[in-house]
Amino acid sequence: MTNLARRAVIFSGASCVGMALASPRYAWGAAPFIQPALPFAASALAPTISGETVQIHYGKHHAAYYTNLNRLVANTPYADMTIEQIIVKSSGDPSAKTLFNQAGQAWNHDFYWQALKPGGGRAPTGKLAQALERDFGGFDKFKDAFAQRANAIFGSGWAWLVEDAGKLLLMETTNADTPIAHGKTPLATIDVWEHAYYLDYQNRRPDHVKAVLENLMNWDFVRDRMQG
Ligand code: MN
Repeated sequence: MTNLARRAVIFSGASCVGMALASPRYAWGAAPFIQPALPFAASALAPTISGETVQIHYGKHHAAYYTNLNRLVANTPYADMTIEQIIVKSSGDPSAKTLFNQAGQAWNHDFYWQALKPGGGRAPTGKLAQALERDFGGFDKFKDAFAQRANAIFGSGWAWLVEDAGKLLLMETTNADTPIAHGKTPLATIDVWEHAYYLDYQNRRPDHVKAVLENLMNWDFVRDRMQG
């Protein structure tokens, strides 16, 4: 089954909230949306990301996006959509900017937690390794390019590895924006909002980005997201 087909199955089967809860994947049905559990203990990413940072990031920031999202969609046509559908529908609509921001941040953080793993960061394998060689000249060059891109983002946002028409490329989104609003398939991300690293690294974003790339990226997850 392709990733796309698998995802369609997940979405069609996830109209029951219980299923969304049971699945650690980003599989939601309609509102009220429930923030998926972290796929690891809050302290499991230390020392790269401290337990305190994860607790606040997941338990306060990410949780608040869900609270706000549910409040905004209540008693509107958006309540019958998935979060992905809400993002696509509200993207570019100035009257739905607040909703887009909450939905985008809910989705981006779900993806972010799934793409991290304690003891991650080892070299990618299989078709991901081949694609990084093809499109970036190898894993080390890719990591350098990804870090450079993440460090150059001015203000709050996200650095992404995405797949577009069979090719892997880097992109950045600012604030709550997300590749799925632009028809791109996200494969990996680093959150460069200051709340993601300030307790642990203060102003040293490059140190945070480097440590996440080397210690926490879940390359098996990234490879499994590839559609090509
Ligand atoms: Mn964040």
